[in-house]
Amino acid sequence: MNTVRAITSDGLVSVIAADTTEIVETARRIHHTTPVATAALGRLLTGCSLMGCALKGRDDTVTVRINGGGSAGSLLAVSDSDGNVRGSIANPGADMPLRYDGKLDVGGIVGRNGTVSVTKDLGLKEPVSGQVALVSGEIAEDLTAYFAYSEQTPTVCALGVLVGKTGVVKAGGYIISLLPAAGDDTAELVEKGLAGLPSVTEMLSGGMTPWDVCRRVLPDFETEKLFEFGTEYFCPCTRERVEGALIALGKDELADMAESGEQKIRCSFCGKEYAFTPDELLALQP
Ligand SMILES: [Zn+2]
Repeated sequence: MNTVRAITSDGLVSVIAADTTEIVETARRIHHTTPVATAALGRLLTGCSLMGCALKGRDDTVTVRINGGGSAGSLLAVSDSDGNVRGSIANPGADMPLRYDGKLDVGGIVGRNGTVSVTKDLGLKEPVSGQVALVSGEIAEDLTAYFAYSEQTPTVCALGVLVGKTGVVKAGGYIISLLPAAGDDTAELVEKGLAGLPSVTEMLSGGMTPWDVCRRVLPDFETEKLFEFGTEYFCPCTRERVEGALIALGKDELADMAESGEQKIRCSFCGKEYAFTPDELLALQP
């Protein structure tokens, strides 16, 4: 179990923490990302998975899209309500020198001239969506701004990806949310507990579990574990879904494709390829 959802015993603060090392390493292998692009996509996947674990309905999903005008292009992640997540980055080869503090320059490749938009499909007639301007392109700060302005929930979001020479060493994150009944005194107590906290990758690298992280980031509260999740990088694509997307292109487009021979459609999330012969393309009917 790599994700834990907990609540303080006074019921005023919730926290979700995850070790997403395997998820981010899987994403790196699928998308062949540079270290800095791995960190960017990994932070987004981690944040989106944490948001997925906070969804209530079994079939609910959350989609987070970031486009900051940087060399990475747009980044996308989708999570189900079990925190199983998939994602893509327009330019996996985006690169940038390390920052002056020696860290990967995620904000540099994501850019800060754009928005983060969140769409939640909660099984209602219309999906619920919100959008805010990017703060830094560092992703955790941008999601925090989204929670503050779009959901009006005071939130602390921390996301980290540590990339080594051969792949992802550690990745994870946590989201602390103040529930509506929480007052200023609770907010101050949460803030006090966060002062001087090590980074999430430091905590996980030191052997702490997600449950340890939940308690460590709220040192002045009694915390109760609510749920545990075993989250993974998961893509639900099928040949039927790809056929549906092809049909949506329309008859003319399909006829053009059929003329240029067999087509291989590659899933942008998991890299799986689906081949269609000209006859199969022409046979697709709405
Ligand atoms: Zn797929």
